[in-house]
Amino acid sequence: MATVGVKHHQMFIDGQDVDSDQVFEIRHPATNELVVTMAKGTVEHADQAVESAKKAFESGVWANKPKEERAAIMREIGNRIALELEEFIEDEIICNGATVRQATGFHVGLASGHFLYFADQAEQYEFERDVPTVAYPTMSMNRVRREPIGVCAAIVPWNFPLVLGIWKIGPALAAGNSIVVKVDEKTPLSLLRLARLAHECGVPPGVFNLVSGEGKEVGARLASHPDVGKVGFTGSTAVGREIMKLASGTVKKVTLELGGKAPTIVLPDADLDITADGALFGCMLYSGQICESSTRILVHESIHDELVERMVKRASTIKLGDPADYDTDMGPVVSERQRDRIVDYMEKAKADGATVALGGNAATVEGFEGGWWIEPTIFTDVTNDMQIAREEIFGPVMVVIKYSTVKEAIAIANDSSYGLTAGVWSTDYEAAVEVGNQLQAGTIWINNWHQVDPALPFGGYKQSGAGRELGEGALDEYTEAKHMHVDLTTSLDRHIFDILLSTPAE
Ligand code: NAD
Repeated sequence: MATVGVKHHQMFIDGQDVDSDQVFEIRHPATNELVVTMAKGTVEHADQAVESAKKAFESGVWANKPKEERAAIMREIGNRIALELEEFIEDEIICNGATVRQATGFHVGLASGHFLYFADQAEQYEFERDVPTVAYPTMSMNRVRREPIGVCAAIVPWNFPLVLGIWKIGPALAAGNSIVVKVDEKTPLSLLRLARLAHECGVPPGVFNLVSGEGKEVGARLASHPDVGKVGFTGSTAVGREIMKLASGTVKKVTLELGGKAPTIVLPDADLDITADGALFGCMLYSGQICESSTRILVHESIHDELVERMVKRASTIKLGDPADYDTDMGPVVSERQRDRIVDYMEKAKADGATVALGGNAATVEGFEGGWWIEPTIFTDVTNDMQIAREEIFGPVMVVIKYSTVKEAIAIANDSSYGLTAGVWSTDYEAAVEVGNQLQAGTIWINNWHQVDPALPFGGYKQSGAGRELGEGALDEYTEAKHMHVDLTTSLDRHIFDILLSTPAE
């Protein structure tokens, strides 16, 4: 049901556009203007998409395609993403407020390469492996096969919909599965473009479906649907727990990429120019709305004041403004709700005794008064028990904690229910690696941040997740392992059946 004068988008199920009699209104986070409407799916749409995915999987139209053909179609998709870069960037900016520089470098810039990595995996992954003939207890040949699971569901958040979607769609398709993607209601456009484009490149109807809808209805239905064999989820830890519960009914495989509260330890010998810029890059990129952002900066007391001074000076230059303008450094946060949530955290921090070294408030930007803005913010005098040091804020809010010994810093860093990423800044690489070895996180960045490579695993320790996306093991998460044992023993007396049947055969 379209709104007059605004472009309306439909879901994509079984190779067809599918509308709904309800809509989501999508508003530009920098202006609050209505930019498009999107069909709002229901539980019935989720069921329709799963049925279509199941039918496609069982027909073998994708699963039984030679892996070289699957890889070729996926390469075509990866190349088309690169060719349509501008359109994808526009989709992301108007929905989630990323700046054009961020969208070019991260939101969309990573997408083509990551998809192409999975296209290669479609061909290179070891789908079948023969184990050398085993002679004990009897002669046998053994084979390990990795087979597609069937219907997979991907439930994706709003912050990096295209890339985080590809981390699930890529391995699922490479392994021969069908997939149903549930987009976040605020950011459906880039994945919708990808679904259509995949279809144009030769992915058969029903193999890649996209639905929208409320998480607690449509997402929850996918997570509990008896015909879904695997759920790949990125989002908050609270919803991740819920997904685990819902998936347990039919013991689905689950991959969870959840929240974070990443610590970074600045050792006394760190290069302060690199660290000041790097720590701000790690914390404030995309207005801090990244699960792996470095939000807790642990600084040795000997360099604390100087580093804070440099970071405040550099962060004061961050220019808020039109996300589509190349001169803009930082865009808005995604919604009024997020803006208010961040402001609440900052007020709580002030009440708890943290010192505002910079910012600490909502902001207004001339010409963009309707948007949702937060000042780049640095809090000092923070202790690790304060709420701003324990909970994920998802805003451009840096928390600085002073430490005296490296042992103490490691203990503070690990004192968190999260463990997605962590980092170290130091000019002594060996010392930094030694500290990194003791940090409890799935990724450790030394003297940099936000470095995600499709060939390397990504995921969290503790309550930051379960399983890993990307890397060589990514397709393991979208396949079932089957061990096939073929016994080669030809005479009864060489078999081991006498363990049970001791009386010789007549
Ligand atoms: P969210 O958990 O609220 O929503 C994520 C997705 O789940 C959305 O599509 C939503 O509609 C759906 N959903 C909500 N309730 C559901 C339910 N009961 N059942 C099934 N689906 C449901 O998270 P968000 O606010 O969209 O995203 C921010 C969170 O995502 C942050 O906590 C952030 O750290 C996390 N995140 C993690 C990673 C990572 O890789 N670890 C990456 C990006 C974001």
